[in-house]
Amino acid sequence: DNASASNFLRGLIESDLASGKYQQRTDALGRPLPAVVTRFPPEPNGYLHIGHAKAICVDFGLARDFGGRCHMRFDDTNPTKEEQEYVDTILDSVKWLGFDWKDETGEHLYFASDYFDKFYEIAEYLISAGHAYVDSQSAEDMAKNRGNFGEPGKNSPFRDRPAQESLDLFRRMKAGEFKDGEHILRARIDMASPNMNLRDPAIYRIRHAHHHRTGDKWCIYPMYDFAHPLEDAIESVSHSFCTLEFQDHRPFYDWVLERAAEGGFFKRPLPEQTEFARLNLTYAITSKRKLRQLIDENIVDGWDDPRMPTIVGLRRRGYTPESIQLFCERVGVAKADSWIDMSTLEGALRDDLDAKAPRATAVLKPLKLIIDNFPDNLVDECSAPVHPHHPERGQRNFPITKELWIEEDDFMEVPSKGYFRLFPGNKVRLRYGYVVECTACDKDADGKVIAVHCNYFPDSKSGTDGANNYKVKGNIHWVSATHALEAEVRLYDRLFSDPHPDAGGKDFKAALNPNAKEVITAYLEHGMRAALPDDKFQFERHGYFVADRVDSQPGKPVFNRVVTLKDSWGK
Ligand code: ATP
Ligand code: MG
Ligand code: MG
Repeated sequence: DNASASNFLRGLIESDLASGKYQQRTDALGRPLPAVVTRFPPEPNGYLHIGHAKAICVDFGLARDFGGRCHMRFDDTNPTKEEQEYVDTILDSVKWLGFDWKDETGEHLYFASDYFDKFYEIAEYLISAGHAYVDSQSAEDMAKNRGNFGEPGKNSPFRDRPAQESLDLFRRMKAGEFKDGEHILRARIDMASPNMNLRDPAIYRIRHAHHHRTGDKWCIYPMYDFAHPLEDAIESVSHSFCTLEFQDHRPFYDWVLERAAEGGFFKRPLPEQTEFARLNLTYAITSKRKLRQLIDENIVDGWDDPRMPTIVGLRRRGYTPESIQLFCERVGVAKADSWIDMSTLEGALRDDLDAKAPRATAVLKPLKLIIDNFPDNLVDECSAPVHPHHPERGQRNFPITKELWIEEDDFMEVPSKGYFRLFPGNKVRLRYGYVVECTACDKDADGKVIAVHCNYFPDSKSGTDGANNYKVKGNIHWVSATHALEAEVRLYDRLFSDPHPDAGGKDFKAALNPNAKEVITAYLEHGMRAALPDDKFQFERHGYFVADRVDSQPGKPVFNRVVTLKDSWGK
């Protein structure tokens, strides 16, 4: 089917299931394991972004689809950049996206730092078995002897020190006898390997640093490439999916697991790493460092600024979890890096919200319309469907009065060719209301139009028999000036106006879209007073809007434009 054609990982799992490779496994306590165990392994050093959402949909989504489970695992092996704040927001984002690490077999929330003892034990084993040694070269010598791509490196003079000596040094490293960088533990593989990652990679380094979970217990920390395969094996992961930049690291991933399995630490089958293309989205940046820079330089208002591609930002902007999942399905999983157009993300959002969002009226650039022949104090009621394709969702009612707000550009004193809306002498329908004929306009001293006059036809009301007697080409929206809700509306657009803001080392700040945020005062259908934070609407003829989850107050919502009705960016 389509889904598996665009997702080679599905095909991989299907063939592993067919071959029975991961059947009949049990965990350390002898309990049966599902054939498919994946993990989502963020480092708690920042907020998740749309690229992570892709990984979450792959890791959690595939496990779900194949009756397996996905572990929520924090890869917290680097003490200096990690914080509890990030752990909390990451958990929150994954849950919000619609995934859960809890199932009937337990809560599969793990921290790599809980495995520090096990990592250490395996490292000692590798030393004893001759697979690792303590190197005491300076950092400069180590870098120099590693060699360059295309030429072999040089063995360290410490490479052949007796295992017992390495073991003793390693224990003293752990005991805190040395300063940062004085010694390092390395795998003994091949200094001439064409794969630089196999030239005796570092596996443990000295770091006198406080860890957000283990405190000051450790002053040596495992390297990511050593810890990651072990984390997977400890948790009996079957399929370890990661992005393409780890392809060259896979031989070391396998090396670590083979050695650990030989040492009796793990049973086969061992976890297998498979790489897929990372998500690159046009008109966005996803580097944590650059996103942080936008915040530090006050270009945006924080991690959850609605212009940010972070999950918290997308959420506040008005994206739904379903739209993000739909987007991830549509882009599929590729084996080679490519760019996905922002319009694909926005399109998924429109498709999701079109079906769900109740309709409402909003006047964003207000101009007064006065119905001169409308009785002064009459409040007449008009009615419109909550959703045009779902009559079962009922009707919404709103008042029509003598003075209304209409959009500034729904009037032209001198109409241009093909303009069918209000101009003196022309008739239009006030959507869900009456047909009116424009008569004149008022101007201020500068000649700016400040009000438009018209007369209405009392027998032309929508939904009545008389309505059929009027054939008009224009159909404009409006709200009652006396009943409308005055509200702050933030018109958001893409943060960058360049599709590749940070390509080729460009200065991404030069690519910022100056019109990415415009704050206006708008007039909304009076029912919008009851909008609750996170409620989403289609403001007819404008687009989708959400009541801001942070700044809305009871009875006083503030709205964010999520996305316009049509893509105005082209390709
Ligand atoms: P950093 O910006 O610090 O390099 P990272 O983007 O690698 O961080 P992690 O916390 O290590 O972030 O990521 C967790 C998982 O999300 C990893 O498996 C990573 O491969 C995946 N991931 C990160 N960015 C993307 C992306 N753009 N597309 C797909 N997957 C991604
Ligand atoms: Mg990372
Ligand atoms: Mg990265």
